[in-house]
Amino acid sequence: MTSSTAYQPDVVAPAAPATADAVAPTRAGQKAIMLAVTIVPFLGVLAAIVLLWNSQVGPFDVALLAVAYVLCSLGITVGFHRMLTHRAFVAHPALRATLLAFGSMAVQGRAIDWAIDHRAHHAHSDREGDPHSPHAGFGGGIGGQARGLLHAHVGWMFHHERLTDRRRWAKDLLDDPIIRFVDRTFVPWAVLGFLIPAAAGWLYAGWHGAITGLLWGGLVRVFIGHHVTWSVNSICHVFGRRPFAADDRSTNNWLLALPSLGESWHHNHHVFPSSAYHGLGSQIDLSGACITAFERLGLATDVRRVGPEQQARKRRPPSP
Ligand SMILES: [Zn+2]
Ligand SMILES: [Zn+2]
Repeated sequence: MTSSTAYQPDVVAPAAPATADAVAPTRAGQKAIMLAVTIVPFLGVLAAIVLLWNSQVGPFDVALLAVAYVLCSLGITVGFHRMLTHRAFVAHPALRATLLAFGSMAVQGRAIDWAIDHRAHHAHSDREGDPHSPHAGFGGGIGGQARGLLHAHVGWMFHHERLTDRRRWAKDLLDDPIIRFVDRTFVPWAVLGFLIPAAAGWLYAGWHGAITGLLWGGLVRVFIGHHVTWSVNSICHVFGRRPFAADDRSTNNWLLALPSLGESWHHNHHVFPSSAYHGLGSQIDLSGACITAFERLGLATDVRRVGPEQQARKRRPPSP
């Protein structure tokens, strides 16, 4: 792998005075929001399955799902994760705004909140303070492992104390007016993520198309996107390979490489957090391929890469 911009250690929590500039929802309010965010897409999936059973779904709905899934997932993987949280490359302002708008449509929370939670995950990986480790504090045995997986997958969002000192964790993001704007306007973007596929379906097949478009391009797409992202938090800290020396329990899981658009090379990512590429060598990483395309188009600069010698330094010796 060539190296135009050498990998640098990750910046996860710039030190600054703690300033609360966001009003956190109450505990009950947060639980209600999380229930809605997890249950409503699931109900949409059930409705979609019933319609599928009655052959009310056509190739247009499936295409809508595929396109919306890829665009919104890239908003999360390339936008929220690699660009925002880890600053793995610098995006042209128009690309930055577009990626963050699509990421907001994935309904995984406001951009800066997402980045703060994920910076906390890297700062405390699999130790106390990690918001979604499947290992910290669940006891041993199969029961403890199952409880840990459930917590890392979805449970953590129901009792996670939101870090309100945003300036301490995300001063660099708050200083960017584009990022601040998309973060503040999360709800309209999320709603637009349902209205656009519904409108596309309406144009294609009237009101029936609007309903199936809303279901497949909206609710089913959000449901799959949630569970794939959450699987990186749960499965990719338990099942898979760990070729490098690392303090945490992150793993590389090839089964999720395609649906996660490369995010399931999660162990590589924990070892080289600021690299724009999570897949190394021949490991398929569609998000990384997109960043390369953006770079060639002149829309991304300062793309961070990990050279072979840096990988070799961290690689575990083969077991005897
Ligand atoms: Zn992780
Ligand atoms: Zn990360």
